[in-house]
Amino acid sequence: MRQEYNALSSFGCVACRSNDGFWEALADRPPANIHHIQGGKRKWWYVIPLCPDHHQHGEEAIHRNKKKFRAVYGDERELFIKVRNVMTVAGLWPEKIETEYQRGL
Ligand SMILES: [Zn+2]
Ligand SMILES: [Zn+2]
Repeated sequence: MRQEYNALSSFGCVACRSNDGFWEALADRPPANIHHIQGGKRKWWYVIPLCPDHHQHGEEAIHRNKKKFRAVYGDERELFIKVRNVMTVAGLWPEKIETEYQRGL
């Protein structure tokens, strides 16, 4: 799964991308951390890329203030789908994650 995580990490933080408002552009982004979406069974592939600020440390960090994070950026499932859609169009979405996703959340 390292390869899949690397692909998501190089996509960059989904919250920062959302702020910058360019889903299509594939300009270089700083590598992001992999956040495991919680709730239910933990699945290796059910993850979103987040920068340290949006992940752990910032005012809106998902691990610090989940309510605020969700109010601003949407919930994790929505973000997962956004990442999937944009990366699929760009031909960057990992096949292994898609296979698991197709099996169902
Ligand atoms: Zn960010
Ligand atoms: Zn996390």
